[in-house]
Amino acid sequence: MNKIKYAREIPAAGTWDVIVAGGGPSGLCAAVASSRRGAKTLLVERYGVLGGNLTVGVVAPLLGGVAPGTMADEVREILGGRRYFDPEEAKGILTRWVDEAGVEIMLQAPVVDVVKEGDNLAGLVIGSKKGLTCLQGKIFIDATGDADVAAFAGVPYVQGRKEDGLVQPVSLMFVVSNVEEDAIICEHEAHHVDTPHGDYLDVCKQACARGELPDNVTIVRLYHGARPCERVVNATQLCGIDGTDPVEVARAEVNLREQIGQVIAFLRKYAPGYENCQLKISPSTLGVRETRRPQTKVVLQREDLVTGRFFEDAVVEDAIFSIDIHNPAGGGQAEGIAARVRPYTIPYGTMLPEGVDNLLLTGRAIGGTHDAHASFRVMNIAMALGQAAGTAASYAVEKGIKPSDVEPKAIRDLLRGQGVKLTAVN
Ligand SMILES: Cc1cc2nc3c(=O)[nH]c(=O)nc-3n(C[C@H](O)[C@H](O)[C@H](O)COP(=O)(O)OP(=O)(O)OC[C@H]3O[C@@H](n4cnc5c(N)ncnc54)[C@H](O)[C@@H]3O)c2cc1C
Repeated sequence: MNKIKYAREIPAAGTWDVIVAGGGPSGLCAAVASSRRGAKTLLVERYGVLGGNLTVGVVAPLLGGVAPGTMADEVREILGGRRYFDPEEAKGILTRWVDEAGVEIMLQAPVVDVVKEGDNLAGLVIGSKKGLTCLQGKIFIDATGDADVAAFAGVPYVQGRKEDGLVQPVSLMFVVSNVEEDAIICEHEAHHVDTPHGDYLDVCKQACARGELPDNVTIVRLYHGARPCERVVNATQLCGIDGTDPVEVARAEVNLREQIGQVIAFLRKYAPGYENCQLKISPSTLGVRETRRPQTKVVLQREDLVTGRFFEDAVVEDAIFSIDIHNPAGGGQAEGIAARVRPYTIPYGTMLPEGVDNLLLTGRAIGGTHDAHASFRVMNIAMALGQAAGTAASYAVEKGIKPSDVEPKAIRDLLRGQGVKLTAVN
């Protein structure tokens, strides 16, 4: 065990077949898929609540699409059957779902390091109320969103776009209540809505220019809430923040809490139906869209999405969501309007990191360019990826092989057996 780094030996807290780090949408599905296939599975989460952005991040609409029959459908169903759900209620629903699948869970247990033996991970080091302890496993899945496990294990990674290293801005989404039933909705930069003050998108831009909205908040996106008199607001943003740096995370928290107040004042003044709106739920953690992008066997490219490329080793099919790059250096979209994609596939190779044999990546931490990541990062796609990662990990344990030696065809067959509608090419 890392005797050079630590003053004492790190006690082992147990051994599992599969350990999933991170209990967000992707990690939950990975753990459930692995456990349902009979692997002794542990889900380890840094916070006291499961769900990641879906719950503590108050990222309420489930966006993006994938082929029918994945766990994205199952989760949508248990959350109420619509893309709009209550992030508060989701906390309990998702915890029960994971528990019923037989997954062992550890909460308030951030992974802070790894123990490596050659090209293998022997364990994850967590920092908890018990100090540092080591969780030993056969196969590990990095579902931390930020690729923490991969980074601690020495997998090379890049951060940000090619030209200047900037990542997408961080935000705090929030829910307002007490809006009129027919209060306006505006989901994106091409969604025009008339108001007594003019086109709502222009009203936002002008308010930002006058200083009535924070810097770079040139659009206040308004989504349906779980209930008629609620709306989810996606507006606050701060550019130039590294979501893996605690000092920068705190700076963003201070700034964005102020922004919530400014955005609510704007809504009360300019948005029809929001005159009496009140803050109902805000996130318990910073909303981080993009951080590390680890080096993987296959790196998904923008062209793969735009052309709808079919990979024969696809573990997710019919993925669809625009290339939604929130401007890393200003307001709105980096490209004016998010570019369209054709239904695309995600190959298994994007889950296989360079240099670590028994680790799989899932969710927004799979291998892709800055542009491709801007599409596959959404929650429905993250959940389908998680299901595939958990299935592959449990299969590798069963066969006693490395994830890189798993035939993608075997994963595709297993996914089909779980009800996922994959095309019949193999
Ligand atoms: C502001 C904002 C708005 C968004 N809007 C939408 C939207 O409207 N619809 C949509 O579908 N998607 C949206 N997204 C994208 C989406 O929320 C994420 O990309 C998605 O949640 C990714 O899922 P994930 O499971 O990979 O990661 P996450 O949801 O980030 O989950 C990662 C989990 O790992 C845990 N974790 C992290 N590090 C560690 C560690 N070291 N040890 C243990 N646990 C750890 C976290 O606490 C968390 O539970 C938005 C994202 C942001 C930030």
